[in-house]
Amino acid sequence: MPDIRLSQVSRVFGAFKAVDDITTVFAEGTVTCLLGPSGCGKTTLMRMIAGLETPSHGSIKFGDRDVTHLPPGKRDVAMVFQYPVMYRTLSVIENIELPLRRDRALSPAEVRRRADEVLEVLQLSAERHRHIGDLDVGTRQKVAVGRAIARQCDVILFDEPTTNVEVHAKLALIRAFKDFRARLRQTVIYVTHDQTEAMTLADQIALMQSGRISQCAPPHVMYDRPESRFGGWFLGNPGMNFLSPRSREGSMLRFDVLSNAIAVPAGADGELSLGIRPEHVDVLAEPADDAVAARILRSSITIGGQQLLSLLVGEARLKAKIPPCEPPADGKTVFIRCRLEHVVLFNDGLRLPAPVTRAA
Ligand code: ATP
Repeated sequence: MPDIRLSQVSRVFGAFKAVDDITTVFAEGTVTCLLGPSGCGKTTLMRMIAGLETPSHGSIKFGDRDVTHLPPGKRDVAMVFQYPVMYRTLSVIENIELPLRRDRALSPAEVRRRADEVLEVLQLSAERHRHIGDLDVGTRQKVAVGRAIARQCDVILFDEPTTNVEVHAKLALIRAFKDFRARLRQTVIYVTHDQTEAMTLADQIALMQSGRISQCAPPHVMYDRPESRFGGWFLGNPGMNFLSPRSREGSMLRFDVLSNAIAVPAGADGELSLGIRPEHVDVLAEPADDAVAARILRSSITIGGQQLLSLLVGEARLKAKIPPCEPPADGKTVFIRCRLEHVVLFNDGLRLPAPVTRAA
């Protein structure tokens, strides 16, 4: 399987840059999720990789093969869309076999073998003779995935395939996706605006903002060490807390949410802010040496039953996510602790690479 190499790729519509000078490599045999808010350029980038859109500038290579100006049919890519075109009066297996039969190089026995393989991997064997028109949207989408992977193209592109699928079928589809990944290692680009889906499926997430890739990294790296405040804010539900320093004295920085001053790291010459995820704010009922007092402004329950607390600490406000419990009373005083290993410092919106340490 080839890697996908983008070199200074841009796409301009009139005066608007939908994709802005992207240079990156999506490694062979991996799943890259293009993630980002609506309008950031995910679909445009994917369409250029597919050959459905031509870059205004730059080049796209699959391995050493320059595909920048090749039509989709000459690229060896398969695609799964939000609304796949399916033949409603044909059966599941006929829909999967149809594109394979057009390939003269494949014998009928090989066509059947591949179709059987994807039916098994996607747990669709029981549906093989059902008509597409009789299936629910989730199962139909599974068949679309099966049809794409059966072609065994070098590259498979998914454009928000679960958007129209109800939540339980969506989980089944994601499970099926992971199963086929375990068996067939094609290079996959998967467009989504759903961060949970990206965190679950991706080997790496390419987080996009305003036509650019702001960070490309494995999900846990993206989550724990966002390169920018944008990444800290976009990932997580809710995203990171950002706090301004209360004071800066020489080489010491103080924040309302930390009991001790921290050392000013190298490069901290711009506007500083501290980032901490709500689930990394420890909430204690009793005082502790390394904790500071906070007042609960409001508490609410998240999906999954956790408590989300809005807290006031000195003049700072922050959110804390704690395990399911009786809702604590608004106005109550608690004590919070933010461990330095979970804290990141941003300088003019970009993360400072040095670990955050206590001031000497
Ligand atoms: P969404 O998640 O909403 O689909 P996206 O990240 O996939 O968003 P794109 O569809 O790539 O974003 O669009 C990026 C920007 O480019 C948007 O502002 C869109 O309006 C614009 N755009 C896309 N295609 C065209 C086009 N053919 N003509 C003009 N503008 C376009």
